[in-house]
Amino acid sequence: MSELKLQNVSKFFGDVQAVSNMNLTIADKEFLVLVGPSGCGKTTTLRMIAGLEEISKGDIFIDGKLINDLSPRHRNVAVVFQNYALYPHMSIYENMAYGLRRRKLDKDEIKRRIDEAANVLGITSLLKRRPTQLSGGQQQRVALGRSIVRQPAAFLFDEPLSALDAKLRVQMRAELSKLHDRLQSTIVYVTHDQVEAMTMGDRMVVMNEGLIQQVGAPKEVYNHPDNLFVASFVGSPPMNFVDCTLISEAENTYVVTESMRLPLSPAQVDKLKQKNVDQMVLGIRAEDLHAEPFPGDQGFPKVEMIVEVVEPLGFETHLFLSSGSESMIGRVSANFEPHSGDKLEILFNMNKIHLFDPKTGENLL
Ligand code: ATP
Repeated sequence: MSELKLQNVSKFFGDVQAVSNMNLTIADKEFLVLVGPSGCGKTTTLRMIAGLEEISKGDIFIDGKLINDLSPRHRNVAVVFQNYALYPHMSIYENMAYGLRRRKLDKDEIKRRIDEAANVLGITSLLKRRPTQLSGGQQQRVALGRSIVRQPAAFLFDEPLSALDAKLRVQMRAELSKLHDRLQSTIVYVTHDQVEAMTMGDRMVVMNEGLIQQVGAPKEVYNHPDNLFVASFVGSPPMNFVDCTLISEAENTYVVTESMRLPLSPAQVDKLKQKNVDQMVLGIRAEDLHAEPFPGDQGFPKVEMIVEVVEPLGFETHLFLSSGSESMIGRVSANFEPHSGDKLEILFNMNKIHLFDPKTGENLL
């Protein structure tokens, strides 16, 4: 069991409130990703859990035990940083054994733990080498091994992959997910990379300016962002946004932008009625703009748009589209090959639109 619980946790650095009244429970064996832009308070949160930063207000519990005043050594959590700082004059084996010797574990137990961790990480053949004789990815694995042998209650990762090149990052991302399946331990993973957050975690916590914006499974956050910030932060290409007004005519209600007029379903109208907002921001993801008929199309509205730029990515193509002064990005199959200047009838999947309150950012649907 290793459940982590943060209760009304805040951190002030002088006038700067780095973390504001955070409430979060990380379940035993959960892989939780903290994600958000630079300066949003992710690292500070992690450091407070590790005991490397004092908590200004609130409480942190591990398995129900209050740990606010425990020293980092006694919290039984392992932190893996981006900068893995291995001892250059020691072999890989010695690097992994160092912390265990200091804890006075016996020699056989140390060997057993290192062999097991090296096996899990696929670094058995590297144990006699020095860190300088390893690649970046191998060094990162050793840093992981060093924390695994400690058998901590939880692992705290602070952007562990950001120093690696793009290809290695993709590989290590998958390896870390596999490792989590094998170790079955609680992991808190900090990143500013929303792709890591989407692909690795059981749940993700999106933060901005010290505040939790949304907590949920990656798909849930992607499909149902709670507010404008989350909608704009999660997803690539980013969600399209256009200012719009709600207009009712006879039986129908539309969202009307400078160049578009899109009918809402009765269910959408019902939800909006309770909100009493008529100036909004329309949000729609690139994959919900269709250049061709698609299964599930329920007679959705079509908007004539001009293709400004075509970006073929091999596996799919992004289209930079315009309608009057409004621009959007669409995502189409690689087989669809329009040219810039073409006029297309773009189908809007109205079941997937979002409407946000521009003042509060709240998702109104
Ligand atoms: P990054 O992705 O850039 O590491 P982050 O989300 O991890 O960002 P934090 O490092 O937690 O953000 O910082 C949160 C806020 O607290 C920032 O405004 C930062 O400038 C401030 N901050 C962090 N550490 C200190 C410190 N020791 N003294 C003063 N301010 C600090």
